Amino acid sequence: MSLAMVAAEASHLKQEAWVTSRAAPEPELGLAALQRARLPEATALAESKLRFIGLHAAAKPLLAASVRARTATQRVVWLQRAASAWARPIEEVGACRGGCAHCCHVPVTISSVEADLLGRAAGRVPQPPEHAVQLATLTSEEDVAAAQTLLQAIGTGLPCPFLQGNRCSVYEHRPVACRTLVNLDDDDLLCRHADDGPPASVPYADARMFRALALAAQAGSEFADIRDFFPTKGNE
Ligand code: SF4
Repeated sequence: MSLAMVAAEASHLKQEAWVTSRAAPEPELGLAALQRARLPEATALAESKLRFIGLHAAAKPLLAASVRARTATQRVVWLQRAASAWARPIEEVGACRGGCAHCCHVPVTISSVEADLLGRAAGRVPQPPEHAVQLATLTSEEDVAAAQTLLQAIGTGLPCPFLQGNRCSVYEHRPVACRTLVNLDDDDLLCRHADDGPPASVPYADARMFRALALAAQAGSEFADIRDFFPTKGNE
């Protein structure tokens, strides 16, 4: 069931590739329309970039260490390192840049293990989340859908509590979810938050494997949005 949850969560990120005209969008178009015009081209570009990247070589030994680790905390720490190693070559050809914090304003699901690691690094005590999900309670597709809705309920448009001056204040300790969200476009157009339409689809690198491994490594944890573990004024 956990793998189904992961697959469902990530399926919307998979876009069919097709090539369209590179004609520039009309300048008077709003952000949402500009994003719709860009998406097909960005999707094709993302797929072409991935053809030239050796994706898993650097991550493999770190993943193996995660599998061998005895405690959930150790498994998660190795998994975080593996996620960073996996993401590095993708980031080199992607749109993500220091000082860009769009993805720190969207829902960020973390585990109680990651919350403890973040709390230790930041000198904060994680709070019991109000909207937590336990994997063991998900026994049907309806349960999974409800859990996804719950986990996405807070976060959109709200800054992560660890974002300071558009920089991550816990960068070395950031969760797997943050390490694996890489936009493969050439710029941040599709990550921007449009007021005139729904959030755009973004050609993220396919990180379903890491999400599945993260769930498997800590199946007994509870999962919630990072803002739920670390509430701040305005984010509650
Ligand atoms: S932990 Fe860091 S990278 Fe992740 S959402 Fe928060 S500020 Fe952004």
